[in-house]
Amino acid sequence: MTSSSSGSEYALELDRGDELAAFRERFVIDDPDLIYLDGNSLGRLPKATIGRLRDMVEREWGVELIRGWNQGWIDLPERVGAKMARLVGARPEEVIMADATSVNLFKLVMAALAARPDRTKIVTDDLNFPSDLYILQGILASAGPEYELVVVPSSDGINGPLDALAAAVDEQTALVTLSLTTFKSSYTYDMAAVTGIAHEAGALMLWDTSHAVGALPINLSDAGADLAIGCSYKYVNGGPGSPAYLYVRQDLQEQLRNPVSGWMGQRDAFDFGLRYQPAAGIRRFLTGTPAVLSLVAVEIGADLLLEAGMEQIRRKSAAQTEYLIDLWRRELAPLGFRLNSPLDTARRGSHITIGHDDGWRIAQALIAEMKVLPDFRAPDNIRFGIAPLYNSYAEIHEAAGRLRRVVTEERFLAYPTATTVVT
Ligand SMILES: *Cc1c(COP(=O)(O)O)cnc(C)c1O
Repeated sequence: MTSSSSGSEYALELDRGDELAAFRERFVIDDPDLIYLDGNSLGRLPKATIGRLRDMVEREWGVELIRGWNQGWIDLPERVGAKMARLVGARPEEVIMADATSVNLFKLVMAALAARPDRTKIVTDDLNFPSDLYILQGILASAGPEYELVVVPSSDGINGPLDALAAAVDEQTALVTLSLTTFKSSYTYDMAAVTGIAHEAGALMLWDTSHAVGALPINLSDAGADLAIGCSYKYVNGGPGSPAYLYVRQDLQEQLRNPVSGWMGQRDAFDFGLRYQPAAGIRRFLTGTPAVLSLVAVEIGADLLLEAGMEQIRRKSAAQTEYLIDLWRRELAPLGFRLNSPLDTARRGSHITIGHDDGWRIAQALIAEMKVLPDFRAPDNIRFGIAPLYNSYAEIHEAAGRLRRVVTEERFLAYPTATTVVT
């Protein structure tokens, strides 16, 4: 690889001083030469998950059958929720695991609108995750013509439009909803400050923490957040399609109604009464039967993060993203690569977005020929998700070197310019 050996020596030195280095061994690394930098889309498989899932399938499902529900399955949404609560700075009785993040967003936005019946405005920004915007658009289509969705634009596509958001939030605003760490640029909001803006206007605040949970410490309680949601298959390593978490601050729980009021959120689900009566507390936000197999995998992912400590993870993540930005400045910027993430570490999550006029072709070459797995987000963004539990400094150094080679050796020229598949 073209990068200087002194550079890789330095990376190895950083790895030797890494207090979290041993956690890499806790994950399945099938091909050590494959550099996986997509933990912000799908986290790696923890080794412990294999045995746990095997036991779950063979013994708990295979042998126990329906009896499993009374041997712990029914409590999994709360039990795993309590672990997730520790990752997001909430009390155990404020978090539950259910459904996909998008579905939880629908439930909480509908609940929030019903709780602010004299207000008709939802405020978000254009850095928010597309699915979040689709859900909001869908809600608007059915909520009635008096409702309005304000999507505040970012001036540069990188930084959150803080001032414009503050100006958009008014006494008509029922809800402000944003991604804590935005998926494209990694921009990360000051949670307490923005929650304060919403509250000053009397609006509720809903945070989507999907790109942040497991990557940086979150404190929903300290920030005064009302509502929150987030994925468990990204930095939490819960596996493909694992359910999301849903948070409702305790004092709000009895005031809010779950619009998808299924039997798992019913007070006495197994009485099979014909009239819906919400369960007490956070359980009312459940809808259908929990994804038992996925939930045990999420528990292992959450346990690994708790064992490592979110402060330690953030420290390493900050150092690793700074290291990648340093490599970008010295080795990639001269080749036309742009940094599409904030320079300020405090305003950044654990992924780094690098743009290039030939970004799509470069990403294809990187994946097909160079054994680096980042992902690509239109129009020109190559995203490098750094998961401190298993990514090493040497991998980051090597990935930057391979990225460089794709351009210096003109490998990308062999690939089509039109975007065909989204990775
Ligand atoms: C990944 C992600 C999602 C995914 O939602 P699902 O419904 O679980 O597929 C939602 N919001 C944000 C901000 C994300 O990053």
